[in-house]
Amino acid sequence: MPDSKFDVIVIGAGITGLTAAKHAAQSGLATANIEALLFGGLVININELDGEPHGSGTELASNLMVEVAELGVANLSETVTALKSDGASLSVVTDAGRHRARAVIIASGAQLKRLGIPGEAEFEHRGVSQCADCDGPMYKDQDAVVVGGGDSALQEALVLANFCRRVHLVHRGTKFRARRHLVDAVAARNNIQPVWNTVAEEVLGAKMVTGVRVRNIADGATSEIPCTGLFAYIGLEPRCEFAPPEIRRDTNGYLMTDASLQTALAGVYAAGAVRAGYGGRLTHAIAEGNAAAKAVNAQFGG
Ligand code: NAP
Repeated sequence: MPDSKFDVIVIGAGITGLTAAKHAAQSGLATANIEALLFGGLVININELDGEPHGSGTELASNLMVEVAELGVANLSETVTALKSDGASLSVVTDAGRHRARAVIIASGAQLKRLGIPGEAEFEHRGVSQCADCDGPMYKDQDAVVVGGGDSALQEALVLANFCRRVHLVHRGTKFRARRHLVDAVAARNNIQPVWNTVAEEVLGAKMVTGVRVRNIADGATSEIPCTGLFAYIGLEPRCEFAPPEIRRDTNGYLMTDASLQTALAGVYAAGAVRAGYGGRLTHAIAEGNAAAKAVNAQFGG
């Protein structure tokens, strides 16, 4: 693909990126939105959003995608490999070519972390999953292990509990850090069994998953939980390997910005789950996408 030139390139088409692209285009800026994976981002895995806005994640994302397309945004299904500045303009290098822009909004989000234990990669799609809403029905009347103690783990355990015989909620601590209403909802489900002070060490199976070997941190004892599914929700990590070192990161690798969402590299903004200080809720994703587009427009004198 030959070089193409835009006013603004938004990297990532999750809710933050789609919102930023929509507002940039509404301000009359020639806008491109680049996404390597599925347009819509992580939210499309959620059947019923918890809080504002209501509805399903897919509905929210697809409505935004229609708006963005109608506004003439160029939707590019490409993988960004580098972001460079030559002072006068910015280049976004992808597996398909190079695009230039006067401003870039990095809204590439975050991805679910992996446990990194033996068997996890091997049994992917054969019992190892990270989408309870998509795969839950396949575990009807079976046992599944969910790992984690935050909002995601409890929310997904609740989804699985609608299908599974039993959900073993394996947590390395003795107290969930998830929000109160999720902790209460889990306590009220008699087919969710918390397994405290415990870590997953290996996914077991032959063709498909048959169990998870776990270790109790307190006494070091190992045991096997027979199950056909493993779902790990142990937090997120930012997707920004392409961002140059001039853009500062916090200790967890999230991109740092000033209050107007500008990074240390002139003309480059970061918004949403890839940004240090992001609030974590959908309402924050929308607000940051909006704010980044406003900041770009202000940079252009709009
Ligand atoms: P999180 O809040 O970072 O929680 C991660 C959990 O995994 C913690 O309980 C942590 O244990 C555990 N953990 C981390 N590393 C581990 C490891 N190597 N082995 C075993 N356990 C490990 O992540 P999250 O639940 O994905 O939530 C991420 C953000 O999204 C949060 O801000 C959350 O509020 C937000 N979120 C919002 C919604 C919503 O609005 N409805 C839904 C889901 C998530 P410790 O507790 O011991 O640290």
